[in-house]
Amino acid sequence: MGAWEENVRKVTPYTPGEQPKRQDIIKLNTNENPYPPAPGVGRVLEQFDPDELRLYPDPAAFSLKEALAETCQVKPEQVFVGVGSDDVLAMAFLAFFNSERPILFPDITYSFYPVWAEEFRIPYEARPLDENFRIVKEDYYGENGGVIFPNPNAPTGLAMGLEDVEDIIRHNPDAVVIVDEAYVDFGAESALPLVEKYENLLVVQTFSKSRSMAGMRIGFAVGSPKLIRYLEDVKYSFNSYTMSRLALKCGVEAVRDNAYFEETTARIRATREHAKRILGEMGFVCTDSMANFLFVTHPEYRAADLFQALKEAGIYVRYFAKPRIDDYLRITVGTDSQMEALYGFLRDYLSRRQK
Ligand code: PMP
Repeated sequence: MGAWEENVRKVTPYTPGEQPKRQDIIKLNTNENPYPPAPGVGRVLEQFDPDELRLYPDPAAFSLKEALAETCQVKPEQVFVGVGSDDVLAMAFLAFFNSERPILFPDITYSFYPVWAEEFRIPYEARPLDENFRIVKEDYYGENGGVIFPNPNAPTGLAMGLEDVEDIIRHNPDAVVIVDEAYVDFGAESALPLVEKYENLLVVQTFSKSRSMAGMRIGFAVGSPKLIRYLEDVKYSFNSYTMSRLALKCGVEAVRDNAYFEETTARIRATREHAKRILGEMGFVCTDSMANFLFVTHPEYRAADLFQALKEAGIYVRYFAKPRIDDYLRITVGTDSQMEALYGFLRDYLSRRQK
C-alpha cells in the first residue's frame, strides 16, 4: 500500500438495492411507490423554464420549508430539507452524534446507520430486537451519545406506539434522539407532535415513499428551532445549495396535494393488508408491517432460494444475508396487478416444489 493510501478515509459503503436496466421487471426491491407523484408535480416539470437553471437555487429552500411547515403544523424555522432523507440523516449524524459515548440503534434496522457511524468515527452499539423483532425500549435508557431508530422499523415494518417512542425520548434528555419516519405515512403514528415538547427530538421524513418521488431526492427533518439551526450550520459548512430549483418546485406541489397523498397511501395500505392474507394462506409468516413493504418467511422454503427464483422470473425483492434475518424476504407493496403476478409465481413455485 502506498503511503498516501494509508491516509485515505476507508469506508465500507452502504449497498443500495439493485436498480435493473430492464424495463419489464416487477420491481419490489427498494420500497418505491408504484403510483406516480401528485399531478401538480407533472405540471411543474412540463412548465419548468430551463433558463431558471442559470441561477443558483435559494440556499434556505424557504418555499419548501414553508409548505412543509404548514403540513406539519410547525414554523418554517423548525424544518430542514435535504437531498433525500439519507442526506438529512448523514447531516444529523455529523451534527448531533459528537460524543465519546456510543450512539444506540437496533441490531436489525436501516443498514446505513453503522455506515455513517463508521465514516464519521462515531462509536455505536447495536441493541438487539427481541425475539419478535420488537425494539426493547428499556435498552435505550442508559447513558449514550445519541439514539436513532426508524418507526416503523426497517426491514421488519414493525411500528412502535407513540407512548413508547416518547418513553425513549423522555429517558434521553442529554442526547439527541432521531426518529427516522421514512415509512410512517403507511400506518404508524408520527412523533411530530412531540417536537414542541422535546428540544432534543429530530423527526426525519422523506418524499421517496409516500410521495412517490424517490427519483427527485427530497427528505426533511422537523425539530426545535435550536436543533434545526445546528443542522443548518453543518449543512452550510458542507454544501449550501443542496436542493435544486426543480426539486424545490416539485416538492412544494407534492406537499400541497393532500387528497392525492391520502388516496395513494390508503391504496398501498389496502394492498399490503390483502397481501398479508394471501401470503399467509400460502404458509408465509408475515410481520405486522405498517410500512409499504412486507417482511416474510416461510417455514418450508428457504428465503435465499425464493429470492433467486423470483429474480429469474423477473420479480425483484430484497434479501439480506444477515444474522437473524437471512431467512426472510422484504417485499415492497406494488400495485394490485404487480402483487397478483407475485402471488401467481409463488403459488406455482410452492406447488411445483411439493411434487
Ligand atoms: N430511512 C430508512 C429507514 C430507509 O429505509 C430509507 C430508504 N432506503 C431511508 C431512510 C432513505 O430514503 P431517502 O434517502 O430516499 O429519503
